[in-house]
Amino acid sequence: MVGIHFDHHHLRVAVADLSSTVLAEQTVDLDVDHAATTALDAAAELVDVVLAEAGIDRSRVIGVGTALSGPVTRDGTVGSTVIMPGWSGLNAAYELSERLGLHVAVDNDANLGALAEISFGAGRGLTDVIYVMVSSGIGAGVVLGGQLHRGATGLAGELGHVLVHPDGVVCRCGNRGCLETVASTDSVLELLRPAYGSELGVAQLAELMAAGDLGARRVVGDAGREIGRILAGLCNVLSPAAIIVGGDLSVVGDPLLTGIREALERFGLPSVVEALDVKAGVFGDRAEVLGALALVIGDTDRLKSAGLAALHNDAPIPAA
Ligand SMILES: [Zn+2]
Repeated sequence: MVGIHFDHHHLRVAVADLSSTVLAEQTVDLDVDHAATTALDAAAELVDVVLAEAGIDRSRVIGVGTALSGPVTRDGTVGSTVIMPGWSGLNAAYELSERLGLHVAVDNDANLGALAEISFGAGRGLTDVIYVMVSSGIGAGVVLGGQLHRGATGLAGELGHVLVHPDGVVCRCGNRGCLETVASTDSVLELLRPAYGSELGVAQLAELMAAGDLGARRVVGDAGREIGRILAGLCNVLSPAAIIVGGDLSVVGDPLLTGIREALERFGLPSVVEALDVKAGVFGDRAEVLGALALVIGDTDRLKSAGLAALHNDAPIPAA
C-alpha cells in the first residue's frame, strides 16, 4: 500500500506492507498549493523512489491513499478556489491514477489524520473523537459513532475557518479573523519572527520550546487557548470522548495542549469537559500519511478484488 500526503509546504510518501508496517517513507519540501501539476509529478516520482527503497515492485501495490491539505468534496475534487488555489476543481485521484497506473483514493488530510489515530494510535477503541491538526492550516477530523463525519458536501471539519476575530486579518479563504489566522503554525511563526528573525521555521521553534523560551511558550499557549475556545463550543454540541491533537505544532511541546485544556475548562460545559480526554496524537505530523495508508486498508472491496481477506484495525502500529 502507498500513502501520500500533500501538505501546503511538503510532500510525504510512505509504503507499507499488509500488516501496516511502514517499509519506507520520505518527505520533500515543495510549494504544493500553487502548482498542482508540479506537485502531482513530484508525488509520482517520489512514489517510485520510496517503492525502490522498500524493494517493492509497483505491480504489487494494491492501492494508493492520498491526503490533501484542502477541502475535498464527495466526488474527490478540490472544492475551493482560494484554499490550494492551483488545485481548484481538479480531481486529484484521477490525476494521480493517470500518472501511477494504480487505483488512488483521496480525502482531506485532517480526516485521514483522524483515521490514523483511531485505527493505530491515540484513539484506538474510541467511537467519538475530534482530531485537530495544527499545521500551516488547521483542520479537524470528526469521528462520530466510529465513522468519519464528512457532512453533506464532504467538507465537514474546516475548523480553521471558524471565525474568532471579526475585525482580524484577512484569511486565505476570504473571510477575516479565522482561527487559522491566529493559531496555525504559520501564524505562530509570524508572531515570533520580529524577535527571532524572518527565517524562523518549525525546527527552530521546537528548539526554542525545548530550551524553555518564554516568548515561544507564550504564543504557542495562546494559540492553544484560541483553538480550545472554538473546540469548547464543538464539544458542547458533540460531546466526544477525546480530542486528539496532531500536526507539526503538536510536536513542539506541552503549552499547546495546556492552552487547549485551559480554554475547554473555561468555556465548555463542565460535565462534557470532565468526561473528555485531551491528548497529543501518537503520530505527530506523520498521522496524515499513515491515515492515507489506513484508507487503503479500510477499502475491503479493493482488498477482496486483489484476492486478499479483509484486514481489520488491530494491525500493528506502523514503524517510524
Ligand atoms: Zn479562513
